[in-house]
Amino acid sequence: MFQPINTPILDGHVHLNNHRGIGDILELSQAAGIDRINIVCVPGTPERWLSSNSAALLAKGLHPASFYVFGGLVYNIGQPSTAAEFERQAKSLRAMGCDGIKMLEGKPTSRKLIPFRMDDPVYDRYYAFLQETGFPIVWHVADPGSFWDPARITEMALQNGWDYTDGTFPTKEQLYGEVDRVLEKFPRLRIIFAHFYFLSNHPERADQFLERWPNVAFDITPGSEMYRNFSKDCARWRAFFTKHQDRIIFGTDNITPLEPRPKTMAEMTDKIRMMRQFLETNETFEGFGCAGSRHVTGIGLERNVLEKIYRRNFERYAGSEPQPLNIEPTLRHCRHIREYARTAVGQEPLYRELTDIEQKLQGLPKRQGFHDY
Ligand SMILES: [Zn+2]
Repeated sequence: MFQPINTPILDGHVHLNNHRGIGDILELSQAAGIDRINIVCVPGTPERWLSSNSAALLAKGLHPASFYVFGGLVYNIGQPSTAAEFERQAKSLRAMGCDGIKMLEGKPTSRKLIPFRMDDPVYDRYYAFLQETGFPIVWHVADPGSFWDPARITEMALQNGWDYTDGTFPTKEQLYGEVDRVLEKFPRLRIIFAHFYFLSNHPERADQFLERWPNVAFDITPGSEMYRNFSKDCARWRAFFTKHQDRIIFGTDNITPLEPRPKTMAEMTDKIRMMRQFLETNETFEGFGCAGSRHVTGIGLERNVLEKIYRRNFERYAGSEPQPLNIEPTLRHCRHIREYARTAVGQEPLYRELTDIEQKLQGLPKRQGFHDY
C-alpha cells in the first residue's frame, strides 16, 4: 500500500465548470491531500467559457487562502480585437486579483475559434505588459502527436473532438515555431507550459528547451501518455527531473465533479495517488492505462525535489499567497459579459450564471480588495 510523504501540495492546474462546483472541487482536493488550488480559466468566446473568469474569482472571494486564479482573455463578443484591447484585458485581469493568465490559445481546437497565431503582433502589447510585470502564464501549446496521426489517434481524442488529421489544423511544429518567435521577442516572459509541453517522448528536446529559456517551466498535468512515456526510461527521467527540479510543477487537470459524482471523485483522487506514486517511489503499478500498456514505473525522487515540484516552484511563479480578490473590477467584468449575454441568441444559461455570481460577489465582505485597505 502506497504511503505518500507528508508535505503541503498545491495543484497548479484545476478547472472549474461553473460557480456551483466551487465547494466540490475544494472538498475533493482537500480529501486527496491538496491544500491549495490554482484554477486555470480558459479563453472565453461566444461558443464557450465566457463565465470562466467570474466563477473562478468568486471561488477566490469565498476561500481567499485556498484559490489562486489564472484568468483568460475574452474574444469575439463585440469588443475590437486590437493590441490595445488585449493589453487592457491583461491589466484588468491583474487588477481583479488574478495571479496570472491561462492561455489555451495554443490548442488546435481553440485556434479554430480564435483567429490569431500566437505570435501575431496583435498580442505584442499584451506580452510586453506580462513581461514587464512578471505576470505568469500557464500556457497550453499543441497536444499529443497521436492526435494528428490517423494511424495512432486514440478513442479518447476522437470522443473529445481532438482529431486533427484532416489538415485544417495547425501542425504541432507550427505551434512550437510560434512560441519560439514569441520567446525570441519576449524572452523574460514567465511561462509554465502545461502538460510538459507535450515533450514527454522527447527528453533531449525538452532539455534543450528548458536550457534555452530560463524563465519557463513545465507542468506535469496528465496526459496519461506522459507517464507511460516517462516509464520507458525511468533512470533518464529521474535524472531529468533532478536536473530541472526548479522547473517542474504539479497539476492534475481535475475539474468540478460531474455526475455520477462519487465515480468522478474516485477517479480524480486516484489520479493524484498515481501521480504521487510515480514521483515518490520506484514501484511498478497499474495506472494511466491504455490498451497497449496498463502499468507505469515510478522515478523515486528525493524529498527536497518533491517539495519543489509539489509547491515551491509554483509559488516562485505566482507568489506564496494568492492575491486578494478585488471585488469592484470583478463586478465590472461580470456585468460586461452579462450585458453581452442578455441580448445574444442562446446565451440564457450564461446570463443566469453571471447573475448568480454577481449576487454572491456582492454578498462578500468588502475588505478583500487591496484597494480597500
Ligand atoms: Zn487543463
